[in-house]
Amino acid sequence: MQALIQKTAKALVQARNAVALTGAGASIESGIPPFRGPGGLWERMDPMEVAHIDAFRRDPEKVWRLLIQGMQEVLTAASPNAGHRGLAQLEQWGYLQAVITQNVDGLHQAAGSRDVIEFHGSFAWQRCLDCDRRCETHRVDLSRIPPRCSCGGIYRPDCIFFGELIPPQLLERSHQLMARCDVLLVVGTSATVQPAAMMPLLAKETGARVIEINPEPTPLTGRISDFFLQGGAGAVMDDILASVAAMRASTV
Ligand code: NAD
Ligand code: ZN
Repeated sequence: MQALIQKTAKALVQARNAVALTGAGASIESGIPPFRGPGGLWERMDPMEVAHIDAFRRDPEKVWRLLIQGMQEVLTAASPNAGHRGLAQLEQWGYLQAVITQNVDGLHQAAGSRDVIEFHGSFAWQRCLDCDRRCETHRVDLSRIPPRCSCGGIYRPDCIFFGELIPPQLLERSHQLMARCDVLLVVGTSATVQPAAMMPLLAKETGARVIEINPEPTPLTGRISDFFLQGGAGAVMDDILASVAAMRASTV
């Protein structure tokens, strides 16, 4: 494992365009459960009943009560972990260009990452179903469910529900990053949700080294990933950071 950490640190230090792709696993150590896998929300709920845009339009109050309200509470209580902080530090040192995240929790920005592409949107904002007005969640009256815009329309989190498309400008920017990247760090994603799951394949086609950090193997492991760093995001990022810091210290 130590050899892989060192290879990863070296790849990052030598990279010209390193990018990270993160998923729900990156925020598990911040206390935010994933949707899939053991303990995930989809063990208890059918995503088509609570996370599809048609379900929301059919019965917004039900979706707010079953899914959004609880998630909002968990996200409000969460703070960044060592994995988020490590990625922010790599960006600050100039070794990481951007983070593409599937998460809606804002924790990369809270950790200090500046270039964050929120592929699936964000829970930090609400959008009115009727007039399309956006409003920061902390300014919305959440004592009334579903919360309403001043026009009377219902608010929804400004994230991507099942059945909705990724905004084209985000997709385009992500494709551009993949077309230029030479190292892709894939952190805490099961790589099963499209189109985000395609990003490692695009990076691989570009010739990038794909480095995966996850406690469990994924469909990428051993096929697309060049290195598989098995472990939690926080501990593995701490090791990578220590190794990068040692390389920096030895070159000054
Ligand atoms: P996922 O739920 O499909 O997979 C989570 C992955 O994290 C798994 O591969 C698991 O092995 C791994 N993991 C578990 N513990 C980990 C740890 N300590 N460190 C690193 N990895 C760990 O997640 P997904 O592929 O991101 O897809 C779920 C979708 O649901 C996402 O697209 C996202 O939009 C949404 N979601 C977001 C949040 C959030 O914002 N924090 C939380 C849940 C779901
Ligand atoms: Zn409105």
